[in-house]
Amino acid sequence: MNRTIPLQWLAGGAGLLAMAGCASSEAPATNQPNVIYVFPDQYRNHAMGFWGEEGFREKVNFRNDPVHTPRLNEFARQSLVLTSAQSNCPVSSPHRGILLTGMYPNKSGVPLNCNSSRPISSLRKDVTCLSDVFSQAGYNCAYFGKLHVDCPTPNDPEHPGAYVEERVPAWDAYTPKERRHGFDHWYSYGTFDVHKNPHYWDNEGKKHEPHEWSPLHEAAQVVSYLKNENGVRDPKKPFFIMVGMNPPHSPYRSLDDCMEEDYNLYKDQPLESLLVRPNADATMEKAACTPYYFASVTGVDRAFGQILDALKELGLEKNTIVVFTSDHGETMCSQGINDPKNTPYAESMNVPFLIRFPERIKPRVDDLILASPDIMPTLLGLAGLGDQIPETVQGHNYAELFINAQAQVARPNGALYIQNVDGKKDDQGNVITYHPSSRGFKTAQYTLALYIDRKHQLTRTLFFDDANDPYQMHNIPLEERPEVVKEILAQMGSLLKEIDDPWYKEGILSEMIPY
Ligand code: CA
Repeated sequence: MNRTIPLQWLAGGAGLLAMAGCASSEAPATNQPNVIYVFPDQYRNHAMGFWGEEGFREKVNFRNDPVHTPRLNEFARQSLVLTSAQSNCPVSSPHRGILLTGMYPNKSGVPLNCNSSRPISSLRKDVTCLSDVFSQAGYNCAYFGKLHVDCPTPNDPEHPGAYVEERVPAWDAYTPKERRHGFDHWYSYGTFDVHKNPHYWDNEGKKHEPHEWSPLHEAAQVVSYLKNENGVRDPKKPFFIMVGMNPPHSPYRSLDDCMEEDYNLYKDQPLESLLVRPNADATMEKAACTPYYFASVTGVDRAFGQILDALKELGLEKNTIVVFTSDHGETMCSQGINDPKNTPYAESMNVPFLIRFPERIKPRVDDLILASPDIMPTLLGLAGLGDQIPETVQGHNYAELFINAQAQVARPNGALYIQNVDGKKDDQGNVITYHPSSRGFKTAQYTLALYIDRKHQLTRTLFFDDANDPYQMHNIPLEERPEVVKEILAQMGSLLKEIDDPWYKEGILSEMIPY
């Protein structure tokens, strides 16, 4: 692709130098764009107000959640907005492993949610991550917020030999320098859900407890980094920033979890008017979480807006790629299940994906079925680093398609759904294998998922005609549409083979799936 970048994009970098009062008056040494990747946790695609606005609502067949997201609404009109970005393995650590490596969970090292009883699930040290590539290309790389891709080890900087928390198994983790994959600025933690009392370990392993709602605190940290208030980055270098905001994330049950000003927008509304999806059950106990969930969404919108404001103020807007997406969605009483994620339902798999790159990407809505492993190569492609995508990456670089909707780039026919659960355990109760309990495939029209037991026998199927049944209310028996099922399973089998998935390697359901 064309790596020449117009001169005017450099103005942003020079502007930063002036505003930040840096001693150097040199322009950035490279002309590469900055990148900011913001991904709150359980944030479903439907929870963005613009989907109800002209220019957007006619592109989707769902009704948007009744949320206040003024900043995202404005940002969407400046961005490429994907209707069908999918979180292939919609649970925390596996998604994050895919995001950082461009590889599916069977290769990333992270097949299961990380905790200290699952030593088999931890981000590979030996693989080149997204941040490694940016770092090697001369970027300053900064990570803020929740990471949750490392198996916790007893490495508490303040208490050597102890985990960072007393809970057994430990979930939270401290990531030492040698596991930071090119990130040279660190303000992060493993996983921790006390939203108004978050904590972070910095570059040197010092713990910070700011007593502030975490997304707003992280936004302030990002703004400080952008302004280079503490001189922690080299203003001559481009930057790559990841912001893993935890909210919206359970628990959502009190004002300990969100900001009151945001909660006030929803607190007096009947639950039926908030749970607008016809597949949602407002009589579930969890329904009481809904106003807190949407309040978290609105608070994240404001925190994201603060980052956008700083970019504009610093003159960095034009030369910075900004992505807003999430880890995975949240079912919030849809489908009658309490599990917020880890399912093939649209509320769980379909994530926001908005990307703004002024003068390079024209604002539009696109139905590209973007899969999680595609994010790394596509971002690298957009940053002019397409020739540095590691060979280990299993996703595809859609940078050309992002820039030009008519580009001659093959579009995917669907995205995999992947669910793994604990397999065998050793004498100490540590998980030593994982069981690949479900695989599925999401196409433009359908969602199909197959579940197996420990003996690899089919136990359950989910099959929805999403085009005609967007809320997935009717689980179609496979024998009702044999030709469609055959075609989807052929596509799914082909992709499972391509990625060397356990279902292919072990011939799981090979009587149904042509690998
Ligand atoms: Ca998560």
